[in-house]
Amino acid sequence: MVAAVVAAIVVAEAAVLALRPREGIGNPLPVDPTAYFTPDQIQRAEAYRGPQRLLGLGVLAVEIGVLALAAWRPPAALTAPRRRPLVAAAAAGAALSVLVALAPLPLQAVAHQRARAVGLVTQSWGGWAADVVRSTAIAALFAALGAAAVVGLLRRAPRTWWLWGSGVIVGFGAFTVALSPVVISPLFNDFRPLPAGDLRRDVLALADRAGVRVGEVYVMDASRRTTAANAYVAGLGATKRVVLYDTLLEGFAPDEVRVVVAHELGHQFHADLWGGLGFLAVVTPVGLFAAGRITERLAPDLRGPAALPALALSVAVLVPAITWVSNQLSRAVEARADTFSLQLTGAPAAFAAFERRITLRNLTDPDPPDWATFLLGTHPPTVERLGAAEAWAAGRRP
Ligand SMILES: [Zn+2]
Repeated sequence: MVAAVVAAIVVAEAAVLALRPREGIGNPLPVDPTAYFTPDQIQRAEAYRGPQRLLGLGVLAVEIGVLALAAWRPPAALTAPRRRPLVAAAAAGAALSVLVALAPLPLQAVAHQRARAVGLVTQSWGGWAADVVRSTAIAALFAALGAAAVVGLLRRAPRTWWLWGSGVIVGFGAFTVALSPVVISPLFNDFRPLPAGDLRRDVLALADRAGVRVGEVYVMDASRRTTAANAYVAGLGATKRVVLYDTLLEGFAPDEVRVVVAHELGHQFHADLWGGLGFLAVVTPVGLFAAGRITERLAPDLRGPAALPALALSVAVLVPAITWVSNQLSRAVEARADTFSLQLTGAPAAFAAFERRITLRNLTDPDPPDWATFLLGTHPPTVERLGAAEAWAAGRRP
């Protein structure tokens, strides 16, 4: 069991090294955060982010705790012999997923309240509760399907189920990447096409220069939940779109919006989504194999619904471990998209102005502790991104 877990981590690390961008990342200059932020601003961000990070880790601990309890003492409903094990598995999967969603709610409510108190979140408690219900329902649906599929596989192919399961997960990942901007995101937000004008022309011209074909530019009503600003490019083929948060359009200068759009086009140019799917395709089989070994140790019967809590527990433990590894890849890929943005716009001052403004607005810690970047950082910390812009401005380009 230990060997399988170590092997999964080693394979994930090897995949990171193989997929890691080799060029297109500059060497950021060292940046003192006080050159961009007042001591007061830095202190305010740290006072907010520090406890938020701990609350996030607490949520993870509660989720794992709930699953550990269910694995240690599987409910009688799971262990009783069933005539229709797949139906029982679907019900158990949905129930487990609802349990995991509800148990950490108090911690999440505290995090929500803190975000409201600093003005980062605009959403009312009613809207928050509606989101919780909606996302719990979606998760329960997928958990039911996943649980039925996995128990079906365990029964049919007890030796190779993890291989088939990986195929399903990676296929589902590709499907989600292609369809979530069209199917899932509209459940949570409204999207309207960006009206004709300078910005739309500008975004399409940037995409053209980057060699990225974009079907449509949308504005998303992010402000109904948050003051945080962002943009993304999503979808494959005909569903490909640039999405701008309305908060980005309201709070930022046009040359700052360009820098953000150029960063997102960088992800498209380098096909980072496919790199991510490639990582998933390599890591999922070894991860599931390791989860199977853990489950064998914990569960009485690997071929029925009774194995589900143990399997869910092993996945819940392995996913954060592998995410910590994959965050190394994510940070490198984000740094490359930053360089792409600097290249495409040639505007390091606008880039730095955007980084400074978004850091203040999102109450991001500009220079977080190394452990936090290592474990949780999907992007380089602000000081590093500012350092990349400074290096670019100083002519030190990759
Ligand atoms: Zn990015």
